[in-house]
Amino acid sequence: MIETVIQPEQDVPVIADVDVCVIGGGPGGLPAALASARQGASTLLVEMQGFFGGMATAGQIGPILGHTASRSHTPVIGGIPQEICQRMADMGHAWEWGRALQFWGIPFHSEGLKIVADRMVKEAGVDPLFHALFVDAIVTDEGLMTHAVIESKSGRHAIRARVFVDATGDADVAYRAGAECTKGRPADEMPMSMGSMFRFGGMASVPEPVQTAMVETMREAIRTGALNLYGAGLGCLGSTTREDERTANITRVPGDPTDVWDLTRAELATRELAWRVLDLWRSVPGAEGLYLVSTPAHVGLRESRQIVGEQRLTGEDVIEGRKRSDAIARCGYWIDIHCPRGLVDGGSVHLCSTACTKRDCYMLTDFADQLPTELYPPDDDWFDIPYGCLVPQYVDGLLVSGRCISADHQAMAATRVMGTCMAIGEAAGTAAALAAMGERQPRQVDVDELRETLIAAGALV
Ligand SMILES: Cc1cc2nc3c(=O)[nH]c(=O)nc-3n(C[C@H](O)[C@H](O)[C@H](O)COP(=O)(O)OP(=O)(O)OC[C@H]3O[C@@H](n4cnc5c(N)ncnc54)[C@H](O)[C@@H]3O)c2cc1C
Repeated sequence: MIETVIQPEQDVPVIADVDVCVIGGGPGGLPAALASARQGASTLLVEMQGFFGGMATAGQIGPILGHTASRSHTPVIGGIPQEICQRMADMGHAWEWGRALQFWGIPFHSEGLKIVADRMVKEAGVDPLFHALFVDAIVTDEGLMTHAVIESKSGRHAIRARVFVDATGDADVAYRAGAECTKGRPADEMPMSMGSMFRFGGMASVPEPVQTAMVETMREAIRTGALNLYGAGLGCLGSTTREDERTANITRVPGDPTDVWDLTRAELATRELAWRVLDLWRSVPGAEGLYLVSTPAHVGLRESRQIVGEQRLTGEDVIEGRKRSDAIARCGYWIDIHCPRGLVDGGSVHLCSTACTKRDCYMLTDFADQLPTELYPPDDDWFDIPYGCLVPQYVDGLLVSGRCISADHQAMAATRVMGTCMAIGEAAGTAAALAAMGERQPRQVDVDELRETLIAAGALV
């Protein structure tokens, strides 16, 4: 039995009263705040870090995926996501849009994204609030969320808004507001493993044969179990655009991103792994000059809570490329499930699917019906994300954006990529503004009007 204490009641000052309050400034939140302000709604963007970008900056995650239809070069996102990328490209911090469409992702520099986000927020008239952690929601007996409670160095404060957008990635707001949420896969409720990307430099002076030797050395370390990594590659540009640098995405740590002890363990484990990998590479003759540029400010989070919304995306929607008349965004990405148990099995376990090589896993023996076999939408195609996936059941005054929308474990493994989260964000912010300014609840928004507004702003729906 856990010992508890009673916290005395306290008066909480209301420090802001706005049309729309977006909580979380990552790929799902930044475009939401920009879209909301551009529609004329007074908009506050609350972020626990001291910069925007979420996993794209705090996690150094990249490249931005989900910009094209499945295994093709056809764009499926436009609007604000394209604008953000073009603004970075104008500063030399991302590939030009046309070039990126020919590639499987959009390489960008996370420092470029930070400054572009700051500038776009200022230009749109969004009110930013950094270093503010959302901790609670005030909800009326009728189920209307009226206030968000935040904690910061200044103490505990409340924000009043007509509509809140939960872009925390973990559905923190929806969960505290009492909305029903699911976590991970149905069999054991385990979400995908966490993992961090680290950035290293000095690659320009490493000749091709030495790079091959580095890969071989790492492959051997994975095979013998000396290093728990799911890939032996040398990384890619990812969240850097400097030719001398690489971002490595090879770590996998099981745990629940909403459990602070699991987060702590994952931070320690991923940082240790980054250094051990670098030391291993540097032990190869000719690679001694490699250096660590940075580890992320926050461990990488793939999956935690999903809201139960008015509608729910499924893995079947992904592989069928299902289209909807109430679509607010498109996703061409595939069902990319990193083993929730964090298994790598000598480097052979890449994805959690029926093709997994670890044949003694209980998922394969007892729950194979919960594993995907097909992973991709049809070639050069996408599936639509309907508006109802952003609208939580029962709670009013609230929309959800980014990776925590209403989707099952398989579908979220596709929609979680940053290009898709940005497109969802633009839709969430636009819908929030339409609801707030039209004095309607988010669930009453006219989806045809929302789609027309999005199309007029350049979004692809
Ligand atoms: C290892 C790894 C590799 C990946 N690789 C890629 C890739 O190559 N390409 C790609 O496109 N995607 C990739 N992803 C997925 C992608 O990074 C995320 O799914 C995406 O960033 C989700 O966006 P989001 O805005 O929903 O959440 P997040 O990016 O997590 O942003 C949430 C924001 O909310 C803030 N926040 C959270 N809680 C609170 C709170 N209580 N109060 C205030 N603020 C809060 C956070 O600080 C953050 O800024 C990867 C993920 C991981 C972990």
